[in-house]
Amino acid sequence: MGVGCSNLSLSPSAFPPLKAATTSRPSRYTNPFPFSPLNSTSLQYHYCPCTSFTMSLAPSSIPSQLAAWKPGGSDEVLSDEFLEKVVSDALVWSALHGLVVGDRSNSRSGKVPGVGMVHAPFALTPTPLPMSYWRQACELAPLFNELVDRVSLDADFLQNSLSRTKKVDEFTGRLLEIHLQMLSLDKKEEIRLGLHRSDYMVDSETDMLYQIELNTISSSFPGLGSLVADLHRNVLGHYGQDLGLDSRNVPENPAVSQFAKALANAWSEYNASRDGHSVSVVYFRAGYTPNDYPSETEWRARLLIESSSAVKCPSIAYHLVGTKKIQQELAKPDILERFVENKDHVAALRKCFAGLWSLDNDEIVRTAMDKPELFVLKPQREGGGNNIYGTDVREMLIKLRNEGNDGLAAYILMQRIFPKDSLSYLIRDGISHTEKTISELGIYGAYLRNKDKVIINEQSGYLMRTKVSSSNEGGVAAGFAVLDSVYLT
Ligand code: ADP
Ligand code: MG
Repeated sequence: MGVGCSNLSLSPSAFPPLKAATTSRPSRYTNPFPFSPLNSTSLQYHYCPCTSFTMSLAPSSIPSQLAAWKPGGSDEVLSDEFLEKVVSDALVWSALHGLVVGDRSNSRSGKVPGVGMVHAPFALTPTPLPMSYWRQACELAPLFNELVDRVSLDADFLQNSLSRTKKVDEFTGRLLEIHLQMLSLDKKEEIRLGLHRSDYMVDSETDMLYQIELNTISSSFPGLGSLVADLHRNVLGHYGQDLGLDSRNVPENPAVSQFAKALANAWSEYNASRDGHSVSVVYFRAGYTPNDYPSETEWRARLLIESSSAVKCPSIAYHLVGTKKIQQELAKPDILERFVENKDHVAALRKCFAGLWSLDNDEIVRTAMDKPELFVLKPQREGGGNNIYGTDVREMLIKLRNEGNDGLAAYILMQRIFPKDSLSYLIRDGISHTEKTISELGIYGAYLRNKDKVIINEQSGYLMRTKVSSSNEGGVAAGFAVLDSVYLT
């Protein structure tokens, strides 16, 4: 979601159904990557922006009764009565503190301020995360911030890496065109502002924290994410003893204020060197999917903004760095070293790269056709609901191969991550559902520099998203994702 904006289109129906995002482990797990990241040092990289999180609901699959489960691992059973009270308090807190989204079922929602709001879907209690992963993810934030900046300055790398993609992906092609136009004007962005979110999952097979993607445009939920952490501290403040949880283990989440601070500082930097009333900072809440450009008018607007002297968040170059193709290119051997001098930093970045491959790698395409459940096939799209999983991977690969080589360039293959599941109370539409879930940790990063001076380079809060992990053999996921926070263990 956009910075500091309460997104009125965030109602459940706004989320595309989870596309077979099953996380059930294949029954006989064998490492399909003998020549790849899992057992070599050439681990991968991966990237992209995203604004929404995936959410779908299969109503009949959700038990209505509150669970006989106590957070924190105790065998003790919490009574339905107690849980109803906690849920009720959490719902009141949400309404009072603006943990709300637009209600699509209300036609006036989003049109009349203050009308048609429902609480955002949330997990009743924060999700446990070992401190070591938390530290690792937080320490990576400034490294990724710096990496994005470095890569954004290498125009040839961006243009060359995306040259094949652009032939088959018109949207990426248009973005590259704007980038080329700026190069022909020799346009330099002296003040550069990045508000990123790097997403991770912990792979239960390897116990590794792997990056899912890096968002460089419209990184969503700093506002609601901060609120959910507050909600959880409040719930644990009241009921922590009964739940066996301590509110001090929920880290502060200053995402919204730190992003706001970065925007304000960018404004100051711009105005320090100029007079008048020109637009100083442009924040893109949209512009990351083809749907945001229904006509040439939107493309002209994007070009106009890019041509202007305003600070762009993101600039076209930052936007391109966040594409999945660039994520995959950065994961190739020896590429990170071109952008990062410090060897420890290179190692730390590479450690979180899962397997990433382009589809011109015949060997990996064959492996993916053979064991599609161990891969995710990703097009150059952001915003959720675009990835391909399970047997659909095989079918799509066969189709793309039959159609000829170019179509393959629109996609990358990624090693599938299998997070460990746990039980959660997911609250949606005022109702609690007890589900087996998996979680994805997003770490926000803010970066601001003016020429050689780095003004901000920091980790700026976090977002936990939790979704139902179950799915049937057909791979159709049942359940929904909710906003969550972290419980450090
Ligand atoms: P988007 O730009 O659409 O957000 P992502 O790369 O973040 O693209 O993928 C969307 C969702 O798919 C993620 O939030 C995650 O739940 C799931 N996902 C993506 N990559 C993987 C992976 N390698 N293994 C398991 N799940 C994945
Ligand atoms: Mg994503």
